[in-house]
Amino acid sequence: MRELIGPCLKCGKNVYCENGFFEGAQVNGELLCNQCYEERIKREKE
Ligand SMILES: [Zn+2]
Repeated sequence: MRELIGPCLKCGKNVYCENGFFEGAQVNGELLCNQCYEERIKREKE
């Protein structure tokens, strides 16, 4: 089962929830795809 959660706020790519696995992250209410979320984490660490 694949459920559309919504578009990534940064790149606009659709973020899905597949078989209960969320393919992104929500940070402070912002929906991000995994790729943008990882980039954000990297930037916060630097
Ligand atoms: Zn994105």
